[in-house]
Amino acid sequence: MTCQRLRVAIDGPAGAGKSTVAARVAAAFGLPKLDTGAIYRTLALFARRSGVDWDDEAGLAGLAARLPLSFEGGLGEAPLVVRLEEEDVSGAIRTPELSQGASLVSRHPAVRAALLPVQRRLAEGGVVAEGRDIGSVVLPDAEVKIFLTASPAERARRRRDELAARGEERPLREVLAEQTERDQRDERRATAPLRAADDAVVVDTDGLTLEQVVERVLGEVARRTGRTAARTGGTR
Ligand code: C5P
Repeated sequence: MTCQRLRVAIDGPAGAGKSTVAARVAAAFGLPKLDTGAIYRTLALFARRSGVDWDDEAGLAGLAARLPLSFEGGLGEAPLVVRLEEEDVSGAIRTPELSQGASLVSRHPAVRAALLPVQRRLAEGGVVAEGRDIGSVVLPDAEVKIFLTASPAERARRRRDELAARGEERPLREVLAEQTERDQRDERRATAPLRAADDAVVVDTDGLTLEQVVERVLGEVARRTGRTAARTGGTR
């Protein structure tokens, strides 16, 4: 029973805290994390380097079908290393420019179709996967589905602090404007728009501590699967 495969889908808008929560939940169950945003970011970087425009759906789909991407580490809270061919691009894909690039390349249906089998393969053995359409499209039969959200102002503050921690100081209003643009594009696209799956639990993280959010998610895993965390990464 305890060795049954567990797939936890964590979806939500930019800055909702998905990565941090996913890392804690993955650590609690000894599972790998799958950051699907990193896949779209890496595709945007690959396109830029290959001279393919972020508007060129066919060109992007061609690149997506042969994206030389690999993940290393990422078990539990261990950092996830993203490689494009041999190069470690984990930091390079986190710039505001590539946030917009990821959002632009991901709106093309042919790109999403090409990346769907890649994501499903990476999730095969059990996973905590985060993104926008994990519960609705990528893993519609995931055992647990969470939709994390928070107010736009709170999410922008978190994103600004995250960028500042990496040495990139940005005014809050700029971060908020970019976030709004990205959210709207993600919500309005025709294919796999950002939305909570019908059977997802929506967790509004405004006013909750990280510990409280992690507890809510672990509680949901227990409720849906009967599984309790072997390791809680310091949550208990
Ligand atoms: O999660 P992250 O901010 O890294 O994602 C970057 C962009 O990739 C998002 O704004 C979204 O447009 C796209 N994305 C997506 N579907 C996913 C994950 C990310 O469309 N499952």
